[in-house]
Amino acid sequence: RLNIPFNHPRRESLLIREKLVDGFRKGIVAPEGLIAHGRGECFDYILGEKTQEFALRAIEAAAAAILLANHPVISVNGNVAALVPEYIVKLAEESGALIEVNLFYRTREREEAIKQHLLSHGAREVLGVGEDASATIPELFSERRRVSPRGILIADVVLVPLEDGDRTEALKRLGKFVVTIDLNPLSRTARTADVTIIDNVVRAMPLLVEKVRELKGRDREVLKEIISRYNNNEILQEALRFISHRLVELASRELRIRV
Ligand code: ATP
Ligand code: MG
Repeated sequence: RLNIPFNHPRRESLLIREKLVDGFRKGIVAPEGLIAHGRGECFDYILGEKTQEFALRAIEAAAAAILLANHPVISVNGNVAALVPEYIVKLAEESGALIEVNLFYRTREREEAIKQHLLSHGAREVLGVGEDASATIPELFSERRRVSPRGILIADVVLVPLEDGDRTEALKRLGKFVVTIDLNPLSRTARTADVTIIDNVVRAMPLLVEKVRELKGRDREVLKEIISRYNNNEILQEALRFISHRLVELASRELRIRV
C-alpha cells in the first residue's frame, strides 16, 4: 500500500494509478492499459484535473442519448472495469443499458476476470464473454471484432469509454450512435464519436450517472431537444481552445517553485 500524504499535489492521480496497478495484478488490466492510462494522464494534467464546462455539456447529451436509446450498451475494457466498476453498474441500473466486455487485447482469462469483477460490484449480467462474443463486426482484425449478438451487435447507442480509434470507426460504420469518454480531444475516437466527454473516466462516470438520474423522468421531446442542440465539433474545439488558453496563461506567470 502506498502512503501518499494528504497534501500531495498529485494525490488523486497516484490513487488512480494504484487502482490500475491493483487491476493489473488481478488480471483485469492489460500491461498496454497501464501505458494508455499514462497518455490520458498527460492530458488530464494539462486540463487542470477538473471536469470542465465542455465535458458537462457532453455529459448532458450523453445522458439524453442513453435514455432515448432502445438498446443502449456500455462497452467495458480492463481500465474502465478497474477504475469505475460501481458506476458502470449504477449506469446500467439507472438507464437499462446492458454491460458488455469488449477488449482490445482479448484473452479468455482477462474477460472472465473483468466479468467476475463487475458481478462482484453488483452487475446483473455481463455480455461479451467467451461463447457469448459469437458475432463479428466487419473490418476489424481477429479477436478485436468479436461482440455479443445480444449486446453491441444490435445496440443503437454504445458508450465506449477509452476506446481505440479503429473500433470507434467500425462502430460508426455500423450506424451506431457512439458516446465516448476520452481525455485526449485529438484522438481518433474523440473525433469520430457522436458525443465526446473530454474528462477523466473517474470523474465523468459519476457525473453521467447523476445526469441520467436527473433526466430520467423528462419528456422524450426534451431529451431530443438536448441532442439536436448539441454539436460535438464545437465541444472538441472548445477543449482545444481551453488547453491553449490555459497554457498561454500559465506561460505568462512565474512558474519557478522556490523551496
Ligand atoms: P485513438 O486510437 O482513438 O486515436 P490513441 O491511439 O491515441 O487513440 P488508445 O490507447 O487507442 O489511444 O486509446 C486510449 C485513450 O484513452 C487515449 O486517448 C487516452 O488519452 C484515453 N485515456 C486513458 N486513460 C483515461 C482516463 N482515465 N480517462 C479518460 N481517458 C483516458
Ligand atoms: Mg489507438
